[in-house]
Amino acid sequence: MTDRKDELAANLANVERRIADACAAAGRGREEVTLIVVTKTYPASDVRVLSELGVRHVAENRDQDAAPKAAACADLPLTWHFVGQLQTNKVRSVVGYADFVHAVDRSKLVTALSKEAVRAGRELGCLLQVALDAGESTRGERGGVAPGGIEELAGLVAEAPGLRLGGLMTVAPLTGEYAGREQAAFERLMVLSTDLRRSHPTATMVSAGMSADLEQAVAAGATHVRVGSAVLGVRPRLG
Ligand SMILES: *Cc1c(COP(=O)(O)O)cnc(C)c1O
Repeated sequence: MTDRKDELAANLANVERRIADACAAAGRGREEVTLIVVTKTYPASDVRVLSELGVRHVAENRDQDAAPKAAACADLPLTWHFVGQLQTNKVRSVVGYADFVHAVDRSKLVTALSKEAVRAGRELGCLLQVALDAGESTRGERGGVAPGGIEELAGLVAEAPGLRLGGLMTVAPLTGEYAGREQAAFERLMVLSTDLRRSHPTATMVSAGMSADLEQAVAAGATHVRVGSAVLGVRPRLG
């Protein structure tokens, strides 16, 4: 194996052990949690190696980087997740390769995603990004819909042609009542997910937890963890 492959294999094994331990500690089955490896800022060659190592879900957050990478890896059996803030002018490109979009947070984006998914003849899984730091406002600092806006937005996604409501996503807030309280934040997301599933029983995905807090997310009940630096290494720049 190449050095890079050895390195990624070791990191992946470590993350896999962390997830397995967290599942065991929570009395959950390992198969209840899907690992999504966030490959942003890393080259297509790394994505290829990860695929060889058995990774099946990858995520990106910038269309400019993701589109050529997904094209270079089109032969691989991968599910692509788009986890970044999404501008409507990038929607057509993203719909070309993404299977899931995790940061749906406004009606305008729902309309654009639906139009392009229909046009491309694809069905796109949509997760609503929840801003747990949104307070009274309708959107968070870093995007996301306030908890009070989930039901309405979920209804729009569920009705939109070409879209399937997958569930909820969050990023542990840096400000507000949940700052520094990752597990409490993820438990709040689980409560919101339970509420959502009353009206949308198939919206079972709960995307939460990154390199630093995947244990807390698994403990709270996350179904998908999004792990970047713990697998690929610390990114040279914020991406
Ligand atoms: C970068 C990113 C991750 C992964 O973060 P790490 O700390 O590198 O594991 C997860 N989710 C989103 C939305 C991201 O942008």
